[in-house]
Amino acid sequence: MQAETSPNGSGDPGFGRCFSDHMAIASYDLAHGWSTTEIVGFAAMSFSPATMVFHYGQAVFEGLKAFRQPDGSISMFRPDDHARRFNRSAQRLAMPAQAPGVFKAACCELVSIDQEWVPAELGHSLYLRPMMIASEVGLGARPANEYRFVVIASPVGSYYARGVEPITVWASPDYVRAAPGGTGSAKCAGNYAGSMAAKIQASAQGCDETLWLDAGEHRWVEELGGMNIVFVIDGPDGTSLVAPPIQDTILDGITRKSLLELGRRLGYQVIERPVSIDEACRAGSFQEVFACGTAAIVAPIGAIRTPSRESVIGDGQAGPVTMRLRDALLALQDGRADDPFGWRVKVTEAEPSVRRCPVPAPSCAGTSVAERDPTSV
Ligand SMILES: *Cc1c(COP(=O)(O)O)cnc(C)c1O
Repeated sequence: MQAETSPNGSGDPGFGRCFSDHMAIASYDLAHGWSTTEIVGFAAMSFSPATMVFHYGQAVFEGLKAFRQPDGSISMFRPDDHARRFNRSAQRLAMPAQAPGVFKAACCELVSIDQEWVPAELGHSLYLRPMMIASEVGLGARPANEYRFVVIASPVGSYYARGVEPITVWASPDYVRAAPGGTGSAKCAGNYAGSMAAKIQASAQGCDETLWLDAGEHRWVEELGGMNIVFVIDGPDGTSLVAPPIQDTILDGITRKSLLELGRRLGYQVIERPVSIDEACRAGSFQEVFACGTAAIVAPIGAIRTPSRESVIGDGQAGPVTMRLRDALLALQDGRADDPFGWRVKVTEAEPSVRRCPVPAPSCAGTSVAERDPTSV
């Protein structure tokens, strides 16, 4: 079977279906702290069924991208912000933080060794997935004393198979993603597990994603399952971006933050205030609505559905402000535009703090990951 992608291959690789040749890995135990990060061949990992992550769910992750630049070099987008958030997520789940620089060095070194996996096509990138899990073996509900940090990489194109077509979102009447004091602002696996039932409900309603409302009143729009939400008012008095303010029930998205800053620079007014589901659905409140996150960058929202109504946003198509912001961010990420913010971080050769293991890497070129190693899926 021919895979959709390979190093230097063309065509749309889709999202997260194939992985590069290597991975970065480090271990932690209470007595020794974090080990040196190593680059090893991408391979299945084996764990005892009594490993604590399977039972108590201490698992956090990140998602960031490396982009091929016009001069052939490679830059990651805001890796330090992702590193800080990774440590914050870890802290919320009582997992150990990493020393400054470890996260970025691991990502840099992985991208550097697998640089031929960074696509050059417009809108494509190498998606990095750092994660940390409790690796201690034993039952007993307490914070584990051993952890594993792993970074894998996947060449990606469009997050949605149909590209930047508008998506429809479903405001679930039954489920809640996050409550005050909970884990909503941590990028932890459990948040996703808890949202899958709503995702099934959304699909049954013909919708692409869940639109989460607040836990207390079930009235205030918070975010999507894996993307933040921004509303656009485009009127005679100018353009405003309206975004629900970040609180501990909302993931502090780096794409959201970047788009709001870019919007300000483009002369838009940026307003962070609560938006109710009634306001979001009322005809004329907003001319455009979009979701944003590292994976999809910007996904226009064409309609919002609740059990009682379906509200089409504008004409249901991707709006000009949405597309302008999307293009501006992508141009900054892939080096076609200036970077006045210092968000691009060049991937340099050889991070001295990371050890390259001389184990030959299996190649995923021309095979799907499942084919390469059936135990890895
Ligand atoms: C990752 C994530 C986002 C988007 O964050 P980015 O930093 O922009 O990728 C939004 N919401 C949730 C729940 C997430 O997990």
